[in-house]
Amino acid sequence: MNTSVIIDNNTQNIEDIFIHLKKNATTIKKTTVKERIKKLEKLEHYILDHREEIHEAIYKDLKKNPVEVDTSEILTIVGLIRHTKKHLKSWMKPNKVSTPLSMLGTSSYVLHEPKGVCLIIAPWNYPFYLAISPLIYAIAAGNTVAIKPSELSEHTSLYIQKMVYSLYSTDEVIVILGGVGVSTTLLKQKFNHIFFTGSSNVGKVVMKAAVNNLASVTLELGGKSPTVICKDADLKDASDKITWGKFLNAGQTCIAPDYALIHKSVEKEFVEQMTNTINEFYSPNGELIKASPDLCRIINKDHFNRLKGLLEDASEKGATIIMNGEMDEASKYMPPTLVTNVTNDMRLMQEEIFGPIYPIKSFDKIEEAFEIIEEKEKPLALYIFAKKKKTIKKVLQNTTAGGTCINETILHINNPDLPFGGINNSGIGKSHGKYGFVGFSNQRAVLKNRVGLTSVKPVYPPYGKLASKL
Ligand code: NAD
Repeated sequence: MNTSVIIDNNTQNIEDIFIHLKKNATTIKKTTVKERIKKLEKLEHYILDHREEIHEAIYKDLKKNPVEVDTSEILTIVGLIRHTKKHLKSWMKPNKVSTPLSMLGTSSYVLHEPKGVCLIIAPWNYPFYLAISPLIYAIAAGNTVAIKPSELSEHTSLYIQKMVYSLYSTDEVIVILGGVGVSTTLLKQKFNHIFFTGSSNVGKVVMKAAVNNLASVTLELGGKSPTVICKDADLKDASDKITWGKFLNAGQTCIAPDYALIHKSVEKEFVEQMTNTINEFYSPNGELIKASPDLCRIINKDHFNRLKGLLEDASEKGATIIMNGEMDEASKYMPPTLVTNVTNDMRLMQEEIFGPIYPIKSFDKIEEAFEIIEEKEKPLALYIFAKKKKTIKKVLQNTTAGGTCINETILHINNPDLPFGGINNSGIGKSHGKYGFVGFSNQRAVLKNRVGLTSVKPVYPPYGKLASKL
């Protein structure tokens, strides 16, 4: 495997790369269902045949356990490919629509054609999944594609480049490595569609750049995803599911439960329960949690220190920090940490945490929880733990989010028939399954008439004869 570093100055030939992809877009546009499925199959087989190499690359970046790489990156991609292969024929079929009486004699349909040349910009946190899953839909829709993976997950980004070049011609898919400099140059090109996954702040930069060329965008962004734990919740069940969703990838997950809002009457019991669950998961035989092979590390020292800063700020403002072990900057290890006695002025309650820290704030009346959620940006995900249907309905009605799980966390991302994405600050546009395919397609309206026939003849000019009839 190539282990050279990513250098952010290879911007010179980006314009040529774009022109090349654009030239070839018309040829790729004409590819058939069979040809596109074949391309996806190649990707599927490559990924399954090279699992260990992918494990290794991601381990070097994040120290992620291979089982977690399988469940959250490799097998999820394979699942999306298989789902696409199964449905692509029907997605590509022209969709017939009905004809109003006044247009009798015509027929109409919607044609899904590729947008053309697409750009995918990916983050570092699920470095393989987030670069490759949009590629599935870009290929399925018949586009040519440039991918810019993250410079922070260097080993995986280099691997993605190697993989893509052994699968596809550079006439069709190009992987460009680099950081902000490369990304900025790419964003100046006249891409037809930009699929960006990353922070809300950079999402705004991407959208501003897209405006210059009126490129369409899918923005998969971040934010603070609340968990609402009601007094009738099953606390053991909630604790298992939240602990898994929160500490997966060491909390560096866009849809991780960011903070908890919990009914005061069950707060103490829940905190005890979650502390137990953390030990059950990461220290089953009483060993140090740090020794667990199942916890990822923080991506770099900047992020580690950012998280440390969040805890210091909370501590200064009176929070109780329940840290299951000690932090270690050298190995970028941050233990699973619960925080109680949380107030709204703490940075933990204002900024996206994106790490293994879980603030738990209690409420007396559920309306207080709605107020806290409402005053923040609209979340990417919102999780509800409750038994009563009436309570669940009340939470759904009084909040909004890109996606929601009821008595579960994270899993909505795994159903390809559900749209995945945020709303406003947490994202624009949706991905996965048919939604992913549509995102990379132009829905072209086509009306067909018979030669020599038209229903609008009576309204042809000159208009004089019409004036008296209208
Ligand atoms: P980021 O926004 O810093 O970087 C994402 C990508 O944008 C990288 O490839 C980077 O090189 C590029 N980039 C950074 N600054 C840029 C600039 N000024 N101009 C052009 N390009 C630039 O995000 P990150 O730190 O890599 O990822 C973490 C964020 O991504 C979190 O906010 C998380 O919630 C979000 N995220 C969202 C999803 C989702 O599906 N909604 C998934 C994963 C991560």
